Amino acid sequence: MNIHEYQAKELLAKFGAPIAAGHAAFTVEEAVEAAKQLPGPLYVVKSQIHAGGRGKGKFKELGPDAKGGVRLAFSLDEVKAHATDMLGNTLVTIQTGDAGKQVNRLYVTDGADIAREFYLALLVDRASSQVAFVVSTEGGMDIEEVAHSTPEKIKTFSVDPATGFMPHHGRTVAAALGLSGDQAKQAAKVAKSLYDAFLATDAEQIEINPLALTEQGNLLVLDAKVGFDGNALFRHKDLLALRDETEEDPAELEASKYDLAYIKLDGDIGCMVNGAGLAMATMDIIKLNGMFPANFLDVGGGANKEKVTAAFKIILADPAVKGILVNIFGGIMKCDIIAAGIVAAAKEVNLSVPLVVRLEGTNVEEGKAILANSGLAIVPANDLGDAAKKIVAEVKQAA
Ligand code: GDP
Ligand code: MG
Repeated sequence: MNIHEYQAKELLAKFGAPIAAGHAAFTVEEAVEAAKQLPGPLYVVKSQIHAGGRGKGKFKELGPDAKGGVRLAFSLDEVKAHATDMLGNTLVTIQTGDAGKQVNRLYVTDGADIAREFYLALLVDRASSQVAFVVSTEGGMDIEEVAHSTPEKIKTFSVDPATGFMPHHGRTVAAALGLSGDQAKQAAKVAKSLYDAFLATDAEQIEINPLALTEQGNLLVLDAKVGFDGNALFRHKDLLALRDETEEDPAELEASKYDLAYIKLDGDIGCMVNGAGLAMATMDIIKLNGMFPANFLDVGGGANKEKVTAAFKIILADPAVKGILVNIFGGIMKCDIIAAGIVAAAKEVNLSVPLVVRLEGTNVEEGKAILANSGLAIVPANDLGDAAKKIVAEVKQAA
């Protein structure tokens, strides 16, 4: 689960990270009010969406010459003008895809005088199973370019959980940033606060870009991107309150209500499978037969009619879907019960695309009979390879 920048900064501040004063705003009036509470004369008006690259982003409605999603303002009037430009409009950034994201919230902050922009991130390094720091002197809006052309400017190290964060880790961060004296102490303190926040919240990612060094010589967390491990959220009821469902994919949100693991993909064959491994294999074999899956969908071990119906509806709501492949292994679930669920769901949603069903396992013959006698044009398949061949053939024939 991801959260907005202002939420991330408020959270990190609780762990001791230095942030500039700022307030969230949902309307133009609130944005101006927020600015009035700041010292000025420099304000920053920041679009709040769950994607980076906002500074260099473009608003669809404003044309290519308009300024981006993060703007400096030197008066309350300018704050008002920027807020009016941003709220309700669609910001397209390198991370949003062409569709962009509608800006519904702003963050108005006290503007800092920036001397340098650093990069500091924490993530889980799966190879070492440790929390890793990623540090670079070359922070700011071109970090992707730095990673691509001059990767040696990005330093990483991980923290052994047995020792936890040690003073030498803080010194390593400071050294990587080329800081000394008081600024090195500040860097070590920021690194420790981020590490503490990372562990305490079961975070998946904390990315500070930029970590700014101000003209006054202070380090400041100027932008923060924080994501949490969804599987650990049950331990963090307070963090759940930060969820912004309008930022999530509507189909994935709907699926999560039914406890379905659904991820939208770019192809045209909708997949409904039980078990993540079988779902992966199903996607692979569709590709092997020359087409692409429209989604990953694991209905889980205990799929019932309600879940199957919900899954069908979610798959069919995707206009790209030209056919559906159901691949269910009836282990805990019995095939006849699954077949009855598929038939009922297909009738309820008025299935309009080819449907190939591969059933295997307990009561498979009874299940196949139910499909055959349903009166629906369900194409039965004998095994995984057969199922993939058939759905690809059906879709090509229907086209
Ligand atoms: P992003 O483009 O989504 O990563 O948004 P950021 O929050 O990182 O802002 C983009 C850029 O705006 C930063 O890299 C800074 O150069 C600039 N910026 C953000 N806050 C301030 C500020 O307080 N003062 C100044 N001068 N520039 C800022
Ligand atoms: Mg940034």
